[in-house]
Amino acid sequence: MTTSNPSMSNFSTKDFDQQHLWHPYASLPPTYPNIVIDHAEGIYIVTNDGTRLIDGMSSWWASVHGYNHPVLNAAMIEQLGKMAHVMFGGLTHQPAIDLGKKLLAIVPAGLDAIFYADSGSIAVEVALKMALQYQIAAKRPTKQQFASTHSGYYGDTWHAMSVCDPLAGMHSLYGKQLPLQHFVPAPPLGFGRQLNQTTRDELTAFFAKHSHQLAGFIIEPIIQGAGGMRFYSPQYLQLLRKLCDEHDVVLIADEIATGFGRSGKLFACEHANISPDIMTIGKALTGGYMTFAATLCTRHIADTISQSDYPALMHGPTFMGNPLACAVACASIDLILSYDIEARTANIQAVMEQHLASAATLVGVKEVRCLGAVAVIELDTAVDMRVFQSLLIENGIWVRPFGKLVYIMPPYVITDNELVTLCQSLLTVVTSYLNQISTTNRASL
Ligand SMILES: *Cc1c(COP(=O)(O)O)cnc(C)c1O
Repeated sequence: MTTSNPSMSNFSTKDFDQQHLWHPYASLPPTYPNIVIDHAEGIYIVTNDGTRLIDGMSSWWASVHGYNHPVLNAAMIEQLGKMAHVMFGGLTHQPAIDLGKKLLAIVPAGLDAIFYADSGSIAVEVALKMALQYQIAAKRPTKQQFASTHSGYYGDTWHAMSVCDPLAGMHSLYGKQLPLQHFVPAPPLGFGRQLNQTTRDELTAFFAKHSHQLAGFIIEPIIQGAGGMRFYSPQYLQLLRKLCDEHDVVLIADEIATGFGRSGKLFACEHANISPDIMTIGKALTGGYMTFAATLCTRHIADTISQSDYPALMHGPTFMGNPLACAVACASIDLILSYDIEARTANIQAVMEQHLASAATLVGVKEVRCLGAVAVIELDTAVDMRVFQSLLIENGIWVRPFGKLVYIMPPYVITDNELVTLCQSLLTVVTSYLNQISTTNRASL
């Protein structure tokens, strides 16, 4: 028997990663190698050979203040000196209370109770359980299923997956094992577009037909993220709010991606002036420092569950309310509130619109669209990542397209000059990429 595997020490960093570490939505080994990162500072991610990349992704919506931020570092170090963690069952602590107060002061009106979860997907699971327990407690036993629109994304756990887009999501892979949910067409594209009568009629008819089966309707307000990077009209959200009220369906707003300013408002629900019954937040909650999320609900939902025959909300992660995460989330929220976030994201949107607009004229580009601090270049065909990724590194930027969608959501602290560089470099990458692809296609004819 050997106590260690001698071959391990022979692996280079990259080889070990290739052979042993799963990465998101990837095979093992992956089809092209991952880039080894040494450290990150401000808006730069630095590879182990010293290449500096401007971060166009905020590490999937999360690192909104940039990396290695002195204020966030200090908040975590201070908390670390007191305690890294203590169980939340039967115990509580100041960071959890402070964060709760800060959140209730800024979230849409009516949200009043908070469940701290350990990741976005878990916050969505809790939201679904909460809605279902609420309907059971309210003695509406037929309301057991959920509805959503096409092109949604709510996470990767079992029930979160079941409400994701049924075509582009993972339904085909897990098929009949996923719980059956209801889907309406995706909201029509266009933030500024009037909601047409056909869509109004369709949604109204759907509620009339199915609401007796529906515990809740889950949606990403205004910006559909990983399901298609689509922006839609606040009027859609207003209609949904009205129909959920009329039919006793819990409206769940998933603000995990949109929350904390990304859409141009602190929370995307504000574009429509509505409050959801349940809301999930995550990603930027800790400024990208810790895995953390939360599910918030109204006093009515909390009371209905808590005064029922089964009064406990049945969920309790080991790391619930983690003090380090709460402390850094408090510091992150203070920073966001210090930014004048609406003006800052409006400026980011304006710069991106100006400097990415010309991409729309390229052959192979379907559309360019921006909203808040999000810009999308939609291509005609899915990106070949092996080709695209090496162009990104050559041009000193980090962007991670999926399918036909090349998109950026830069950290809020990016300066105008840096943002112009990011946009211009992205244009160079997309142009070179489309040229290479069309040359390859011609060569193969
Ligand atoms: C990322 C995301 C999730 C899942 O969050 P994780 O922390 O990755 O589990 C859920 N909903 C939306 C809208 C997201 O963007």
